[in-house]
Amino acid sequence: MDPLVRPALLLQQLGARAAGTGISVAAAAYLVHYAEHRQVAWHALAVAAGVVVSLGFRIVRRLGRLSPQATARLDFELFSHLVVVLFAVILHLPGRLDGPFYPMLYALVMIAAAFARPSAALGTVAFTVLTEAGLSVVALGKSVDELWPHASLMGVFALLNLLVFRAEIARVRELSKRRIAGEIERMKQAARSYRLLGAPSAAVDRASVAPPSDEERLMRSGVDEIHQAVTYALDLLRRSLSLRTAALLWLDGSRTKLTIQELSSSEDGIAPGPFSAKDGIFAAALSQGQTVSVHGERSGQHTPYYAALPEVGAVCAAPVLEGVHPRGLLVVDRPGSEPFTSEEEELVNGATHFVLRAIENERIFAQLERAKIEQGKLYRAVDLLASATTELDVVEACVASAREFTSFDFAAVTLLDRSCGEHEIVAVSGEAEELVGQRFRHNAGLVSMVVKNRHPLPYRGDYDPARQVVFTRRVCPPAMPSLLVLPLVVHERALGTLVLGSRRRGAFGDSVRPILEVLASHVAVSLANARMVKRLEELATTDGLTGLCNKRALIEMAHLKLKSANRFGKPLSVLVTDIDNFKSVNDTYGHDVGDVVIKGLGDILRRVKRDTDVVGRFGGEEFVVVCEQTDSEGATLLAERIRTELAATVFQTDQGPLQVKCSVGVATFPAAGKDWDALFKATDEALYASKRGGRNRVSVWSPRMHGHAA
Ligand code: GH3
Ligand code: MG
Ligand code: MG
Repeated sequence: MDPLVRPALLLQQLGARAAGTGISVAAAAYLVHYAEHRQVAWHALAVAAGVVVSLGFRIVRRLGRLSPQATARLDFELFSHLVVVLFAVILHLPGRLDGPFYPMLYALVMIAAAFARPSAALGTVAFTVLTEAGLSVVALGKSVDELWPHASLMGVFALLNLLVFRAEIARVRELSKRRIAGEIERMKQAARSYRLLGAPSAAVDRASVAPPSDEERLMRSGVDEIHQAVTYALDLLRRSLSLRTAALLWLDGSRTKLTIQELSSSEDGIAPGPFSAKDGIFAAALSQGQTVSVHGERSGQHTPYYAALPEVGAVCAAPVLEGVHPRGLLVVDRPGSEPFTSEEEELVNGATHFVLRAIENERIFAQLERAKIEQGKLYRAVDLLASATTELDVVEACVASAREFTSFDFAAVTLLDRSCGEHEIVAVSGEAEELVGQRFRHNAGLVSMVVKNRHPLPYRGDYDPARQVVFTRRVCPPAMPSLLVLPLVVHERALGTLVLGSRRRGAFGDSVRPILEVLASHVAVSLANARMVKRLEELATTDGLTGLCNKRALIEMAHLKLKSANRFGKPLSVLVTDIDNFKSVNDTYGHDVGDVVIKGLGDILRRVKRDTDVVGRFGGEEFVVVCEQTDSEGATLLAERIRTELAATVFQTDQGPLQVKCSVGVATFPAAGKDWDALFKATDEALYASKRGGRNRVSVWSPRMHGHAA
């Protein structure tokens, strides 16, 4: 950046930031001056209008989205503007600063303390006290001591409001957060008991305001569906059998307690539970696996779910059996003491089958939905991988896609360089990004073992950093309880690994491993494709003998460089070298030696050229160098260097040492030609001049060479 631009920009930024405060201070100063002289002049009206316009502008800006810092600044500007306006109003009201309208300022400061950022509120109090000091002491001629009551009251008001109001906001926020967390916990509990949950994901474990995950949505809709179906069935039972209550009670993990899962009752006072599964007809129905009912006076003993026991004449409990395993009970009771008939018991029993079917349906639906969601994610991942054409793109797409299937705190991709038997960490996401670029030899660590055996490790994804080595003892990922190293296998060959780590215990269990393995296999295929594309590109653009650009690639680059030379008005030079009497080298020493000489010249060119120059083999023993931002003097120096270096090189052959020389032609844009064809033709003409002039020399194109080609 230009040395003057930076300070100018800084000054501009500073101006933009200080403008609001500047207006407040200037307006307050003007107000003091105005109060002293008390003459309404055109400038008083102009200042008032200016402050009001600035205030309006700031109110509009405050309604938009802002960073916390900008919010605090704007809050201060807003309230300091309002303070000036209010002081101006109070000065025009009876009693002025000692009148009955002065407390409006307290109210304003209190509003600032309640709604503005704390720093802005503090600034507003300070600004108010200072403005009042200016007005009282300078304009109204009061003593400084008279300021204290107002200033201290203002401070106290602000502080109290700050504390009380903010504490209240925090309390309400905490309350609603806890309520949401409680609701999610209850729903999770229900989903767990109906066994609707799929893979434990970080998203389900949290109770936050983040958008719900797919798993959370599935869980919620499943629980809702079951709730609707079951309460409908319970309502139906209650109405058709004249019941007081029909309840679905569910066994807990220890199978000793029952909790109310769904309920339909005409009674309000229902106890929250849980209730013992070891007493009364609950225990009988569960242990016998059959519907049990009682009637008569003592029936109330079997209905512990009433907070205040109403009159209960008959109770019937039917076990909810999944196969032979009891999951809970369907309990019904009624006030009348006539016993439940066998048809009625049959109805209650039939309702348990309905409940089970509703749960089972939701379970299957959740599984199908889960599979569909997973398929969609896989489809997106494959799409992303397919559009990645370089190795780095594939690695990035791999980490991004893995995040779709599971949450992790660390991810790395390692690739094996088979030419030297070393692994390289090519990408890291999350923590420990400094590991990128680390290389290590094949060893007994997890990554090496996974590459060797082509199977994910460690078993079940449980990782113990003290015992297991991932990369090497020295190079290791952050210590986490869960880790998974997946092989990237294509055609029975592991190209490398995908390493995932999580702070969550059991993060890579059976529910996510299979899909991650599928993803890894897609990544491996994309990686192999990217490598093939790179290889093809290399083949298409490089010369096989020298490894330099081939003719096509060089011309392409030359066009680009010419374009930019043209745009920026810079010179550009082209050199063409041709070995002298090369045919006789081939004839005397053979083609193979000829090839060695061509390679030798290629090496010299590669060595002496600058980084920005491009060298290509144009065919046979002819090379072209394109040098950007180089005039003909610079290009001649380079050409001379090439010529002398080649002449000084001794090639050892069976028939003794061999030395060759070369001729060079140089032409410079724009004098020698404005486009590639003209420029290259000029270079060729210069080369012809070198050959005709006796070889082993450098010639720079001049207009009189025009029309003489080699
Ligand atoms: P001059 O000084 O005029 O350049 O004479 P010259 O013999 O070098 O003539 P020219 O440049 O036309 O000869 C090119 C020779 O390079 C022709 C061919 O035998 C030889 N040649 C072309 N390609 C190859 C190659 O790939 N390997 C080898 N060994 N020789 C090649
Ligand atoms: Mg030639
Ligand atoms: Mg030649």
